[in-house]
Amino acid sequence: MPAPPDPPGPDVLTPTDRTTLRRKKERGSYDRDLVNAILDEGLLCHVGFSVDGSTFVLPMAYARIGDALYLHGAAGNRMLRHMAQGAEACVTVTLVDGVVLARSAFHHSMNYRSVVLLGTTERVVDDDEKQRASMALLEHIVPGRSSGARPPSADELRAVLMVRMTIAEGSAKVRTGGPIDEPEDLEEPYWAGHIPLSIVAGDAVADGGLPPGVEEPEHVRAFPTCRARTRSSWS
Ligand SMILES: Cc1cc2nc3c(=O)[nH]c(=O)nc-3n(C[C@H](O)[C@H](O)[C@H](O)COP(=O)(O)OP(=O)(O)OC[C@H]3O[C@@H](n4cnc5c(N)ncnc54)[C@H](O)[C@@H]3O)c2cc1C
Repeated sequence: MPAPPDPPGPDVLTPTDRTTLRRKKERGSYDRDLVNAILDEGLLCHVGFSVDGSTFVLPMAYARIGDALYLHGAAGNRMLRHMAQGAEACVTVTLVDGVVLARSAFHHSMNYRSVVLLGTTERVVDDDEKQRASMALLEHIVPGRSSGARPPSADELRAVLMVRMTIAEGSAKVRTGGPIDEPEDLEEPYWAGHIPLSIVAGDAVADGGLPPGVEEPEHVRAFPTCRARTRSSWS
């Protein structure tokens, strides 16, 4: 019998009818720390929304501050303009940790950590919050970068449309380990196991024309290690 979902509490997202895992529910969790860890490690999310009778799923950058998730883009961005009016959206973040090869074709799988968030988005109107979220977006992608670039000007901030979704309704799902084959297949002469996967950063390439004396900063040197560190325990 699979374990029931974690009971609701301050450190747990309250399961709702639409976030209750039904398939493989033992892989699900509503633990905020796990949800936050997956959100913080991911680089991009996929945002699902419906507008004018059509449904779209678009990849985007994002950042988290506390229980707020921020998305940003050009003021003319159709999705963001729709979301700024208070739209229903679904934000998914997926970390692919490996491919799983079973003895049977049927039981091939993937190792992953994923988060699905549901909620209503709203426009960020407060300039300070917009500024903080802009810096969080930089920090999310490259830790340390917010002090390594010219801050946005007032005009640049005005050109950005920022929306917020409160992280209140959602779920995480995690698969780890090797294949789960049928007992009668265990003697089959096929290789089975799993192959860990991770994003690997290459060497940084300095842009041409950097003024003399501008050296590669520590946050650029540290980038490959900081991404590898967060992933290694899940491979
Ligand atoms: C990299 C990757 C590859 C996958 N490939 C497949 C595939 O090929 N075929 C397949 O059937 N499934 C695949 N899955 C699992 C898939 O995401 C669903 O969990 C699964 O299909 C069950 O769907 P359901 O509609 O029955 O979910 P239900 O359990 O009925 O979903 C109910 C609720 O559970 C939560 N939930 C469901 N799935 C997830 C999730 N992945 N992460 C966080 N919360 C979740 C959501 O809140 C959702 O609204 C994959 C997942 C990942 C991350």
